[in-house]
Amino acid sequence: MSEQLTVSHGQIEPEIGLQIDPLCSLYAQVRPPAYNRYQTNELCKDELVDWLTFNGQQTMAGRIESCGTAFIHLIDSEGFERYNRLRCKNELCPVCGSKNSSVHKRRVGRALIRLLWNGLLGSFVFTLPAEISEARPSKDKINKLTKKAWQIVKKEFETPGGLSRVHLMGDKPEKLRIHINFLFPLLNADNRGMVPKEKIETVRNLWTATLNKSFNLDLKESNFKYGFADVPGKKVNKIKYVLRPIVTAQKFLTLSDDDRHYVLSLRKGHNTRWYGNLSNAKYKKYLNERGVDVNKLENEVDGLLSPVTGEKYRFLGIVQEKDLPRHNLRWLDGDTLVDFGTFAFLQQGETATHTKPLIKSKRKVLKKPSTLNPQLTIKF
Ligand SMILES: [Zn+2]
Repeated sequence: MSEQLTVSHGQIEPEIGLQIDPLCSLYAQVRPPAYNRYQTNELCKDELVDWLTFNGQQTMAGRIESCGTAFIHLIDSEGFERYNRLRCKNELCPVCGSKNSSVHKRRVGRALIRLLWNGLLGSFVFTLPAEISEARPSKDKINKLTKKAWQIVKKEFETPGGLSRVHLMGDKPEKLRIHINFLFPLLNADNRGMVPKEKIETVRNLWTATLNKSFNLDLKESNFKYGFADVPGKKVNKIKYVLRPIVTAQKFLTLSDDDRHYVLSLRKGHNTRWYGNLSNAKYKKYLNERGVDVNKLENEVDGLLSPVTGEKYRFLGIVQEKDLPRHNLRWLDGDTLVDFGTFAFLQQGETATHTKPLIKSKRKVLKKPSTLNPQLTIKF
């Protein structure tokens, strides 16, 4: 007898006389195929690693494959320990590229330090016409466009600097949709972030002219979006959105081979760029002058400060996951382990003085756990 299944009224009816579990209903099959195929990170990772290996990207494939299998071992002057999982940090990695991954949180945390100090945060999204995205413009061309777009923002808005980040796909799979995002402290708008309509029109005209000149087009208008955030929660959401991966593994696997090679060709160099007083060379001085302790905040974001002593941890070595002394450790999250003493301290603060560190040393008076400036605390 044939083992073919026939479908009627949404039920699967086997011709072979077997009782099929009701979970195998037709409804499980109706999601878009692009998302249906990769139900777990592991399946996605396998397919990605295979494709990269067969397309001359063995090094990247190896890093993604071994992502998260080892830990950095850290210790403070009191003997309190911490293990931070080593991640490949590749945005195509299904783990590192996922929303709220430790890599994403760190990227967001560092950007918060540069962007959250001002009352208003402005945002722009300049979108390239669909046919231009599909023609796969060179990295050089995208870089030049990004610079021109920043000149427009800088000319029309009073801001000390900002960041740009180019996303290669929109919300939909299968197609390249290049858009350039900007975030910048906004100084010249009113307290609610409103800007005059004429200014928006001016920016639109300038962007249309830039596209026409760059690609020899005759567009009458262009696609861009202005927005702003005035409270920390909204600002954090904007920053998280802009700093998400430029292409996730799932979306990457929905692209054609040619588009995949194009995405890889754009990976060299930084995708996030900082401008003006917030540029890499200037931001520490600029923010320190405004009372932001940049070094301390960055060490906290990177997980390099002991919460017990408030000091920077010392690096002890790299430990494979199978060699971790797990019976002495507690998970803080999926990527971080600390000893019982640190864990208790984080839970109870100064009442945890009875808990000894694993490596004996003279205990000093415990300080309260160091915290980020409340305005800079990241909530996910
Ligand atoms: Zn990874």
